Parts: sequence; structure tokens; C-alpha cells
Amino acid sequence: MYIMKEPVKSKDIVTTGQYLGVVEEYLPDKRSTFIKDGKIFAAKTGIVTIDKNKREIEIKGHQEEDRKIIHIGDIVIGTVLFLRLYSVGINFHAINQKLHFNSSYFGNIHVSQISHRYIDKISNAFQITDIVRAKVIEEEANEYKLTTVGKELGVIHADCTICGTPLDKVGADRLRCDRCGNIETRKLASDYRNVSENLRF
Ligand SMILES: [Zn+2]
Repeated sequence: MYIMKEPVKSKDIVTTGQYLGVVEEYLPDKRSTFIKDGKIFAAKTGIVTIDKNKREIEIKGHQEEDRKIIHIGDIVIGTVLFLRLYSVGINFHAINQKLHFNSSYFGNIHVSQISHRYIDKISNAFQITDIVRAKVIEEEANEYKLTTVGKELGVIHADCTICGTPLDKVGADRLRCDRCGNIETRKLASDYRNVSENLRF
């Protein structure tokens, strides 16, 4: 089955079988595309890469793309997936403000890397479903060690753990639920709920 859509642009995300363009337009890459009746289709799911000078079109996989874009010092945005006794696990939505999808990468923030201040309990700094901005400090296979030490790093969006309403900032690391009055604490980024990045994908 071929999915007919508009011709694609560089960096578009395509799925297997998706229409890319015509052979008069591009020189298709043999491994990642196929031709049918003079039309080019994606042979795999990934990111469209067009070399304008050579007029070549190629589909690059997520992993190839991932490897290129994650480095020590990068800023990532992700959601808290789980809390452990001494660390918090997050997935990545974005790296350096670039959309990151279907990621197999996870980040871990150790309790000592949360804040300049002493954190007694992980749950005083993060809760599951919080959206966090963090910096990559170490790479380990598919897992990255992250830090939220610093004013600009930490939670950028949090919902009330009782009723799910987005929490309002009422103090340095203090949040209040306007709906149920619940008070919670987090390691907040200075621009909590006032960020320029896309938060949900
Ligand atoms: Zn609430």
C-alpha cells in the first residue's frame, strides 16, 4: 500500500511506503527508498534528507539521527517516567530544541545532581509526569546522566498529584494547586510554566 501525500521536504518524518517525489526530481537512495511507476517511496520510517546540490534523497533512521544529535552538554526536555530512591528516570522529547521522537534513550538524574541544595527525598524535587529541562553530563550506552543543577534547569511544567491541575509557582521551589489548594515542592527551572519550547508531542 502506498500513501500518497504532498512531496516531502528535508527533515520531514516519513513512514514506510510514503510518497517522496518523482524520479525527475531526485536521485533516490537505493537502501532507504524504492521506485514504482517513476515515483519514489520511502522504504523505511525515518527522516527525509535531501542533498539539494546532488539532488539526492535519502531516509535516515531515528537511531542514526539520534547518535548525531546527543552530546555532553546538550539540553534535553523530557517527562519524568519513574522515581527511584536515589534517582529519577526521564525520557527525551527534545534535544537542543529539536524534536526527538520514538526515542530509545533515557536519562537519569541522580539525587546529587538535582540542585545545589541538599535534596532529602527525590519526591520533594520531582513527580511522575513532570516535564523537565536538564543537561547531559555523561553518556552510557543508551542512557544519559543528567543534571538539573542551575537556575535555568529543572521542572518546567508540573501537574497537581491530587487533581491533575497545572500547579502555580508560589515560592522558590514551591507550587500550589489553584483548584484543590494542594501545596507541593519541586526543583523548578526559573522559567517554570513560562517556557518557549514545545512541551508535548
Ligand atoms: Zn489539585
